[in-house]
Amino acid sequence: MMAALQLRRDKKSTAAHLKSDLNRTDNSSGVRQLQELLDSVLNPEKPPADTEALDWCKCLIAGEEGFEEFCKTVRSYDNATLCGLVWTANFVAYRCRTCGISPCMSLCAECFNNGDHTGHDFNMFRSQAGGACDCGDSNVMRETGFCRRHRLRTGENVPSVPRDLLLMSEMVLPRFIICIIQYLRDGYTEPDTSAERDLQKVLQQLEPQITFLEELTKMGGAMRTVLTKILTNQQTFKDLSMGQEENVFAKKNYENYLSALKNSGLVSVEEKAQTGAAEPTRGSETGALGLLGAAAPSSSESNKEEDQDGQSIGQRKRVKLSSSTKDPSIMDSLKHKCFLEELLFWTIKYEFPQKMVTFLLNMLPDQDYKITFTKTFVQHYAFIMKTLMKSQESDTMSNRIVHISVQLFSNEDLARHVTEECQLLDIMVTVLLYMMESCLIKSELQDEENSRHVVVNCSEALLKNNTYWPLVSDFINILSHQSVAKKFLEDHSLLMLWMSFVSFFQGMNLNKRELSEHVEFESQTYYAAFAAELEACAQPMWSLLTHCKVKETQEYTKTVVRYCLETLQIWFDAIGFVDELAPNQVTFHLPLHRYYAMFLSKAVKCQGLDLESLLPDQEMLMRIMVHPLQIQASLSEIHSNMWVRNGLQIKGQAMTYVQSHFCNSMIDPDIFLLQVCASRLDPDYFISSVFERFKVVDLLTMASVHQNTALDGEQERPMLEGALTFLVILSSLRIHLGMADDEILRAEMVSQLCMNDRTHSSLLDLIPENPNPKSGIVPGSCSFEEMLSAVADFKAPVFELGGSMQQGMYTPKAEVWEKEFDPIMVILRTVYRRDVQSAMDRYSAFLKQSGMHTTGNPWPPYKERTPLHPCYKGLDRLLHCKTLHIVIFTLLYKIWLDHSNMSEHVLCMVLYLIELGLDNQVEEDKGDEEPCIEEHCHDSWFPGTNLLSNLHHVINYVRVRVPETAPEVKREREPPASTSAEASNFGQNVREAQVFSLVAERRRKFQEIINRSSTEASQAVRPKSSSTRWVPPGTPPQLVTEILEIHESMLSLLIKLHQKLSAKQNSLSATWLEDMDANPNRHAHGDGITAIERILTKAATRSHQSKRSIQEICGKVFPPVAPKKNSPTAKKTMDKEERRQRARERQQKLLAEFASRQKSFMETAMDVESPDTEAAMDLGASEVKESEVLYDCVICGQSGPSTEDRPTGLVVLLQASSVLGHRCKSDEAKKLPTTDEERIYPADTCGAAHDVRLALMQSFFKDSSCLQSVSIGWDGGVYVQTCGHTLHIDCHKSYMESLRNDQVMQGFSVDKGEFTCPLCRQFANSVLPCRPGRSTEVVSWHMPSNKKTSVLVKEVEDLQEQLGFFPTESNLSKEMELVIKDIKNTTQRKYMDYGKNPGSPDNDFLFMYSVARTNLELELVHRGGNLCSGGASGAAKRSCLNQLFHVLAMHMRLYSIDSAYNPWTRLTQVAPSRDNCLDDERPEVPMLFRDCPSLLIIFVLTMPQPLRKEHFICLVRMLYNLQYTQALAALSAKFSPEERQAWSTSGTLKKNAFNAEKSYEALLSHVITELSKVKTVYDVNTDEPSMLSSSVWSPQSIEYSLQQFCLPYLRLSCLLQHHLYGDNLSGCPEEEEFSGLAGCLGLLDAAPQPSNPMYSASCLDWTVSAFDLMSQWCSEVTGLADTQAEKSMTLLVQDLQWASPHLLHLPDNYNTIFQYYHKKACTACKKVPKDPALCLVCGTFVCLKGLCCKQHGICECVWHSQHCGAATGIFLLINASVIIIIRGHRFCLWGSVYLDAHGEEDRDLRRGKPLFLCVERYRVLEQQWVSHTFDHINKRWGPHYNGL
Ligand SMILES: [Zn+2]
Ligand SMILES: [Zn+2]
Ligand SMILES: [Zn+2]
Ligand SMILES: [Zn+2]
Ligand SMILES: [Zn+2]
Ligand SMILES: [Zn+2]
Ligand SMILES: [Zn+2]
Ligand SMILES: [Zn+2]
Repeated sequence: MMAALQLRRDKKSTAAHLKSDLNRTDNSSGVRQLQELLDSVLNPEKPPADTEALDWCKCLIAGEEGFEEFCKTVRSYDNATLCGLVWTANFVAYRCRTCGISPCMSLCAECFNNGDHTGHDFNMFRSQAGGACDCGDSNVMRETGFCRRHRLRTGENVPSVPRDLLLMSEMVLPRFIICIIQYLRDGYTEPDTSAERDLQKVLQQLEPQITFLEELTKMGGAMRTVLTKILTNQQTFKDLSMGQEENVFAKKNYENYLSALKNSGLVSVEEKAQTGAAEPTRGSETGALGLLGAAAPSSSESNKEEDQDGQSIGQRKRVKLSSSTKDPSIMDSLKHKCFLEELLFWTIKYEFPQKMVTFLLNMLPDQDYKITFTKTFVQHYAFIMKTLMKSQESDTMSNRIVHISVQLFSNEDLARHVTEECQLLDIMVTVLLYMMESCLIKSELQDEENSRHVVVNCSEALLKNNTYWPLVSDFINILSHQSVAKKFLEDHSLLMLWMSFVSFFQGMNLNKRELSEHVEFESQTYYAAFAAELEACAQPMWSLLTHCKVKETQEYTKTVVRYCLETLQIWFDAIGFVDELAPNQVTFHLPLHRYYAMFLSKAVKCQGLDLESLLPDQEMLMRIMVHPLQIQASLSEIHSNMWVRNGLQIKGQAMTYVQSHFCNSMIDPDIFLLQVCASRLDPDYFISSVFERFKVVDLLTMASVHQNTALDGEQERPMLEGALTFLVILSSLRIHLGMADDEILRAEMVSQLCMNDRTHSSLLDLIPENPNPKSGIVPGSCSFEEMLSAVADFKAPVFELGGSMQQGMYTPKAEVWEKEFDPIMVILRTVYRRDVQSAMDRYSAFLKQSGMHTTGNPWPPYKERTPLHPCYKGLDRLLHCKTLHIVIFTLLYKIWLDHSNMSEHVLCMVLYLIELGLDNQVEEDKGDEEPCIEEHCHDSWFPGTNLLSNLHHVINYVRVRVPETAPEVKREREPPASTSAEASNFGQNVREAQVFSLVAERRRKFQEIINRSSTEASQAVRPKSSSTRWVPPGTPPQLVTEILEIHESMLSLLIKLHQKLSAKQNSLSATWLEDMDANPNRHAHGDGITAIERILTKAATRSHQSKRSIQEICGKVFPPVAPKKNSPTAKKTMDKEERRQRARERQQKLLAEFASRQKSFMETAMDVESPDTEAAMDLGASEVKESEVLYDCVICGQSGPSTEDRPTGLVVLLQASSVLGHRCKSDEAKKLPTTDEERIYPADTCGAAHDVRLALMQSFFKDSSCLQSVSIGWDGGVYVQTCGHTLHIDCHKSYMESLRNDQVMQGFSVDKGEFTCPLCRQFANSVLPCRPGRSTEVVSWHMPSNKKTSVLVKEVEDLQEQLGFFPTESNLSKEMELVIKDIKNTTQRKYMDYGKNPGSPDNDFLFMYSVARTNLELELVHRGGNLCSGGASGAAKRSCLNQLFHVLAMHMRLYSIDSAYNPWTRLTQVAPSRDNCLDDERPEVPMLFRDCPSLLIIFVLTMPQPLRKEHFICLVRMLYNLQYTQALAALSAKFSPEERQAWSTSGTLKKNAFNAEKSYEALLSHVITELSKVKTVYDVNTDEPSMLSSSVWSPQSIEYSLQQFCLPYLRLSCLLQHHLYGDNLSGCPEEEEFSGLAGCLGLLDAAPQPSNPMYSASCLDWTVSAFDLMSQWCSEVTGLADTQAEKSMTLLVQDLQWASPHLLHLPDNYNTIFQYYHKKACTACKKVPKDPALCLVCGTFVCLKGLCCKQHGICECVWHSQHCGAATGIFLLINASVIIIIRGHRFCLWGSVYLDAHGEEDRDLRRGKPLFLCVERYRVLEQQWVSHTFDHINKRWGPHYNGL
């Protein structure tokens, strides 16, 4: 009853009433009333869309004041000391590495800008997942980085909140929240059938309510406290959650909730009940999940796998999990105790609605809440994962999860707190395991049938879509905290659990080599595999390693290593690995190996642990070695094209494996692990394993012929090179064997820079993250920047010809090339093989340039290595083992004999190995250098293992097995027959002949090791069959054993190779060694000869015996070297190589030639002033005397005249241009606004001013007359450009046909007539026909004339009277009309129709002569606005203006000007004033208002062609009279009345003087008098304060002003004359331009004297009385009706000078633009555009690609380009810092004019570093705009389909 009553009453007064009731001491009735009211208002059975309830709540909470007012009041009690601003995806935030404690730290723009971060390492970034501002949180960032507001700790000064302010909130909000919860419960329907759409619908309906909650959180600390109290109060939850008993709805609602809860655990309630019962058959996918909760393994009947251990996959995992999960509660369903928990639950269920997330996060600044919320989040962690895996939009959800978790886990205290109290680590690891178990499959590695190992299936969505990412990222985040990581490392069961997680990735994505057919489908699963290993395995590993850096943490490392080995052992057992690898398989994923390797490395390097104590027994080491070694061999196989049938993806894997982001988590640990194995295992065993694995064992025979059962012929050489290169890397790389972190960073940097010059950002990207993190998070780590400046020079960005732009680059310093270039490091880090070649090319270029090595190609330099860490000393034994020495000997021998498959690279690597051996002696062998006693080993060639002593050991005979056909067979059989003595000798030696079999060697060693180190048990495991797998079954029968006579030592072979390389007998004299000692440095750089000399020197200095041996060999006179018996194959490879090299050179030369030709085309086409070199450009006729002008056709190559029948045309590009229209008065560019206060006013541009003038005229005067008194085309005029090339028009037509059929052509549209010039490839879209003609005509044009002006005036008049003749229809005339059509189609209608009758002939007439005007004016602009620089006649020929005028004139002759209105009459005759037509018609435009340049062009184009020069000059003179009179009139208007009076009076006196008609004073006075006849003319102006009133006009200033007024006319006339008659333009100083031009036009009677000032009046030439004519012109103005006269002054006074066109002036710092524009709303759609863009011509802000501003199917950017630039637009994309150009239907990315401190662009602001304006680039952009060369310079155009 009560409630009903209240409901009817006004909400506000009810609220007030209730509030006062509640404030009483006895508030029970108030409470009851409120409850009743809420019961009826907040009814969850009502649809949530009904906002009545919401209104009520707002009113109740606010009380009598309005809600807005209430908000304000509450805000004033805000006591927050943290910013805590929460943002969602795409928000622009900042990150400062200098200030951040956690790497996840982020700041809002406001806090960043209000803090001091000058000189810090900060960047701007676009938030991906959303985040929150950390300002004020000293757990996450240093206090120095706090902004001013949050540094002040405002909390302390804020008054405490009055009790009653929030009283109502406290009572109403619990009810409101439970109501929302009930809606959420109600909207959710179990089970999975509930479509996601339904959830969305529920959320949509709840939108206003949730928004309200979110708003509340923004009211500051006071309200937050109320909210968090309610949310975390357990009693409130208990009271309200179930609802009242009698309420059926609430009951059902609650049950719905309970059933939703049921399935929230990792184990559902049903499954839990099931445990112990017989299991159903389970596959590997579901089995594991179901069994997770089981207490003990139950024996299963349903095991399919027969397995002696009696374990199925499922059981194995179950055992692992159930035994290690300490707290089964992790797996259980959830139970809730407060609103917060249930709200979070629903938030998860509904897949993290954005508003809910923000609501929950907004309260985080409340510390208690933060803790509770974090715990709640952790409690729901498993449930989150479950929901995530089911989600359809896991991407969005992932982002939202991380949005929350990063706020919680970045804080070390909080993370440690929940780790201790809530088992965060256990939960995370369990959840990760659980997640991965859902996609396990049986491993096929090694033993396909019997493998018990399971791996993740990389084609599952979970991996492919990276769904595990948020969880892994959380895990990495918490491990970054030392205290948490310690907990993890101390917990053995957790470690074991983690190792079993890692083992899921061990051996995943197995590749099997395709041997017969190419794979049909290239699986791309490798992306998923590499990503998973990096993110899920390697990243956590690196996190853990950062905490194992000191001695104190030794124990941790020991534990990890122990579990690693244990897990590895389990793995080997599971895959059934004994000692042989299954053939043709490779997996790149060995995370267990890598964990082991990296912890070993850290233990030795940082923790001082003894390596020995961490190593397993020899047998285990031998096993550990196998898989990493297989990867190295496979890399070589892949590059040798042995895996081509597996498709491109396998190359992708090989590249990814070594790529910068992966290398230190993959290849580096692998190499390190192999190094460890090599240092501990028997070197002979290791070396033979390597060659066996690389399949080149058969190749290592001294025989000339061999059979290789494993490799094809063409693969042998690359595989041998691969094996040797690997051995070199293995024995020389020191990354984990002794190099300091700084050294590593330096080496990485040098190797990248040597491959190519790099930009700062690409270098940053290419340097591996470990051990030196590139961000400065870890204090004390070596600075990237310092290192960079130590090794590299900066090359500032430069421009290449043609406008392509370079970025700032870093290039190695000279001393780096000299001392640090390390080819081994380059090879290791090379992703693309060509980069090795590139580094070598750059190296040899450096040597040539510095004169260190100038002949031939240098060899990779040998570099001395960092000393080995003592622990790894054993590695050197690799270089001192007989097996390697035999290989070296064999290879040297084979190279000397030119055996096939040997290459320079092989020799290079062999020498490298020898030299490494010499430089790294094994300690114990020192001293006993002399050959020792008989070796116990019967089949070894060498007496000892020391390289130094083996070098000079002579091998006499070798026993080989060869095919019967081999050359040895014959040769060996003959000598024994010759002499008996030798025969017996021979027989003796045969017994000493050496046999060598690598395979046998390895087997023997293997046995030895096994016997030595392990028990019989290990012997038993090795099945005998395994050995047959590798030995090819049955050697071909025709093999015979032969004995080769050798008599060589390694030293003698080296010396022979020296002779061979230098092509000289006895290249080393007996005494050369002594000479050597003098200059030890000369060996650093050079070719193979140098390398051999260096080795010999080293050997000699280190051993006397070697020295003696060398001297002996050198002293011998060698018989002439046997002529090279190059085996045909070797010859072929050599030739191939050579041919390839030559072909490359040829190609490069061609390219260079082409480039330079291109360049010269560009220059001639672009630069008007460059000397005339192109024959094709001879278009003018002045030089050709009698002959006809000839044109070359660039298509058919013929040359001939242009005729009526077969016309020739110029290749032209027509484009509409508004460049002229955008000119301003001021020479300074307008500033781009970057605040709301600044604006750009467009009214003062040339285009706008002309529009206003024309409109003004049209409102008073006859339209047709107006249209002849001005020019248009300032905006949207057509500009005509040519590359100067000509072609037959019929040839062009067939060319276009061919283009149309050519589908390859891209970037332009043939249908629109677009093409590229067949010769120079410049873009064009039309052909301008050339005027046929004889040059004699031209001569007649030039004939000097002595005719009097009056005669000429009459002649001109007569010519004008001649009717336009229509040319007879011909091919030429047709083409001319076609090009006119093209011109019209180039621009838009609105730029052609200015008349009152659209499409009238008057309009057409205006448009046509304006085309001429536009082109002349643009040429003036290109010349810098004046003609002072002059120009040769040749330049005019290269321009197409002459041809254009001709075409225009032909067209214009179609119109005739009515003689009654011919302005010529009014210009030259004093006529009785006509009765101004009919009364209703408007008057004609007075002469004084007419534009003289326009009149000149009209006359020229309408008179019969060709126009004689005398007539042209006559036109110019007559019009100059008018121009000068206009100047006087304009000048007089600027006078003050007094001045006007004075000048009028003084001038009258001169009127009668001699030459008064050429006296400015007399004329000025006359004009003033005439114009003063009607008062209004000058009266109008007096209203406006004259700008110059303060200054007094002097004769000088008057003359100056007159000249300035006439100059534009003179310039245009002069330019026109230049083009029509080919006259030279004479250059002159700027201040003498007037006289220069007047002279050029022949206006001066005598040349001006430099001493005498030039008077503009002296150029006047009157044929009738000047005063009469002027009176007549003035009377036209004064005779106007009053209303028109008012505007006369405006029309009279016009400023004709315009500054050169400019783009907007941009601020120096990009941030200024970005901050203002990235959140600015568009004026059209009022929204903040997703892709905002800015027109750099006019400053208009547009929505790029936005549908919001699309009109008539055209997006705003394109639309604007059409209106602002007549289809040319230059836009700055705010969010990308890049400029795009729109030209017609095409667009291109131009690049950026903003560069970072390293001279680099930052497209899309990915790096977010500060960007600064590159003035040079901006100038280039402007210049391209003004010169209309966008089409020519930019190459990558594409159609935009109006979608920008
Ligand atoms: Zn902030
Ligand atoms: Zn702040
Ligand atoms: Zn900072
Ligand atoms: Zn042709
Ligand atoms: Zn061309
Ligand atoms: Zn614009
Ligand atoms: Zn817009
Ligand atoms: Zn818009």
